[in-house]
Amino acid sequence: MKPIPYGRQHITQDDIDAVVKTLTSDFLTQGPKIKEFEDAFAAYIGAKYAVAVNNATAGLHLSVLSMGLKHGERVITTPITFAASANCVRFVGGEVWLADIDQDTYLLSFEKTRELIESKPKGFFKGIIPVDFAGLPVNMEQFRKLADEHGLWLIEDACHAPGGYFTDSQGTKQKCGNGNYANLAVFSFHPVKHIACGEGGMVTTNSKEIYKKLIMLRSHGITKNNMTEDHGGWYYEMQELGFNYRMTDIQAALGLSQLIKNDRGLERRNEIARIYVNAFGGKIKFQALPDTSFNAHHLFVIEVENRKEMYDYLRENNIFTQIHYIPIHLLPYYKKIGYRNTDLSHAENYYTKCISLPMYPTLEKEKQMFVIKKIFEFLNINKHGL
Ligand SMILES: *Cc1c(COP(=O)(O)O)cnc(C)c1O
Repeated sequence: MKPIPYGRQHITQDDIDAVVKTLTSDFLTQGPKIKEFEDAFAAYIGAKYAVAVNNATAGLHLSVLSMGLKHGERVITTPITFAASANCVRFVGGEVWLADIDQDTYLLSFEKTRELIESKPKGFFKGIIPVDFAGLPVNMEQFRKLADEHGLWLIEDACHAPGGYFTDSQGTKQKCGNGNYANLAVFSFHPVKHIACGEGGMVTTNSKEIYKKLIMLRSHGITKNNMTEDHGGWYYEMQELGFNYRMTDIQAALGLSQLIKNDRGLERRNEIARIYVNAFGGKIKFQALPDTSFNAHHLFVIEVENRKEMYDYLRENNIFTQIHYIPIHLLPYYKKIGYRNTDLSHAENYYTKCISLPMYPTLEKEKQMFVIKKIFEFLNINKHGL
C-alpha cells in the first residue's frame, strides 16, 4: 500500500493543460495570467484587491512592511502556527510577543490577547497577526474592535483558510481575508495547502493605498506611476527598497485552474471531517467546530496522551501524520533570542498531545476508515491513550 500522507495536492489534466498553454505563450512571468489570477482570487474571497507573490512568507514580509513596522516595534501572534507568521516580524527587526491559544479552538485566544495588550502602556504594541489555524476562521470582527481600541493594525494569516468564513454579529458570513476587518490577509499556495502553485502566495486588502504599496514592494520598489520626474517612455523610478517577490505566469495559470476547484475541495474536506467527528465524538478530543463558522479544514487535529507512540504506530502502518505545530517559543531560534515571558501553558499542553490526521480532497473513504481503525487499535493497545 502507498503511504497515506496528512495532506497532498490534487492535480488534474486541466491543470496540466493550463500550465502547458502558458509555457508556450509570450509570457512566463510579468504577463497577463498574474492579473487574471489576482482578479479571480479577489472576487472569490470578496476582497477589493489581491496581489500575487512567490510565497506566503514573502506576502507576510510585504504585509508588515506595508503596515510600516520598524525595528524594535512589537507585534502579537499565536504560538501555534507555522514559523513564518512570527518570522515576518523579525524580518524587519520587530519583537515577537505571543499570547496563549484557546484550548478548544486552538486559535489565538481573544481574551489572552486583550489581557496582554492591557497589561502594557498604550502604544506598546503595533499590530496583531491572528492565524486561521487548521482552517478554522478567527472572529476578525472581535479582533478589529480590540485593535481599534488600541490603535493596532491586523494582518490575518489565512494560509489555512481560503474559502472559510465566520458569521459576524449581524449574521453576515465573512470570508477569511475579505478585507472587511483585517488590514491585510495572506494566503499560501504551497502544495500541502488548498490551492497548489508549486510555490505561491496572495495578499488581499480593501485599501487602495496598501495595494499600491504591495505592488511596488513586490517588484524592487520600482514604479512607472506617480513619478517625481519623467524623462521619456523608458523611464522608471525606484522609489523604495523593494524585492523580487513576483509569482510567475506558469504558477498563476496553475493557481487559476486550481482556484475553480476550491469549493469542491472544501466540500470534500468537510465530508472527511464529519466522518472523523462521527468516529471520535465523545471518545477523542478534536478541534472545536463552532457551527456558525465554515472551517476550510486544511488540517484535522486530534489530541491524545501518548502522541509520540501513536505517531510511530501509524507510521508503521504507512499513515504519515504530522504535528502542527511546535510552539514558536520552543523553536531554537526564538529560545535563543528570548521570547517575551507570558503564560503559554495551553499552547504547551496542546503541543504534547496534538496530531494532524490525513485530510485532503482525494483521500479515499477506505483509506480514511483504515486510519480510523488503526487509531482505535492503537488506543486499545494503549489503554491510557484516551
Ligand atoms: C504555509 C504557511 C505559511 C507560509 O507559506 P509559504 O507559501 O510556504 O511561504 C505561513 N503561515 C502559515 C500559517 C502557513 O501554514
